[in-house]
Amino acid sequence: MDDLILSPGLYIVATPIGNLGDLTPRAAQILMKADVVAVEDSRVTAGLFRHLGTRGKMLPYHDHNADAVRPGLIARMASEAVALVSDAGTPLISDPGFKLVRDARAAGHVVTTIPGPCAAIAALTLAGLPTDRFFFLGFLPAKQQARAEAIAEVAAIRATLVLYESGPRLAACLAALAEGLGNREAAVAREITKRFEECVTGTLHELAARYADAPPRGEIVVVVAPPGEAPPASVEDGDVALAEALTRLPPAKAAGEVAKKLGLDRKALYARAMALKT
Ligand code: SAM
Repeated sequence: MDDLILSPGLYIVATPIGNLGDLTPRAAQILMKADVVAVEDSRVTAGLFRHLGTRGKMLPYHDHNADAVRPGLIARMASEAVALVSDAGTPLISDPGFKLVRDARAAGHVVTTIPGPCAAIAALTLAGLPTDRFFFLGFLPAKQQARAEAIAEVAAIRATLVLYESGPRLAACLAALAEGLGNREAAVAREITKRFEECVTGTLHELAARYADAPPRGEIVVVVAPPGEAPPASVEDGDVALAEALTRLPPAKAAGEVAKKLGLDRKALYARAMALKT
């Protein structure tokens, strides 16, 4: 491993979200061998390098200097191995990096990912909620109205929701989620992989009440269950859909379309269509 020379290009390196033991051997190797490591905050990544017993060749790359620094990093990728890390977890996931990847690829450089910890995925594994479909929201807006609008946008999505939140805002966020989504099951995963890791589950109202007077410390991911099954379509729903379909289609076709759409009986709908026609 000591003789390894990395090919030029961009290496996206995931780092631990708390427990340094979660740094993969491959990530450690890339960080030690890279010609330069683009970091969000050099004080944070210096801790990781101390853990590796080396100093690392760090170059700050964050929201405030990214546009100025990026062209130089892209140029270096022609002949050097450039690694990208964020303060914790997977770069680009609510962290800087997507423009670096986009521009690196556009310049013809090889882009390699070294996957590893990600708080959103770790929280999903703890929550015990469906994982077959999930929707990542990152951080919701801090202001009340913008947050309510962002929640309304995702209310109908039939997937588990995953979002990042801070302790002081947690209770208000949970209450807003309950208001906008209904009182769904949810989980608050906190300090994952750290000493005080916990995952508290309950309904959104229960969790909002629990944290209202006791904002938790540390880092938090909120996971919210998908909406419940839609109630079965009623005869009235069928009538409304049939009336609309009959403006476009003959009775048999209208009945077929509505039966498929609402899961109702085709023959009964046809009889109803004939009655509505008269
Ligand atoms: N890129 C990171 C990742 O892959 O998870 C996320 C970066 S984002 C700027 C930081 C947020 O992730 C925190 O505010 C918190 O919501 C969540 N987070 C990070 N580490 C966490 C941990 N150990 N436990 C719970 N949430 C964590």
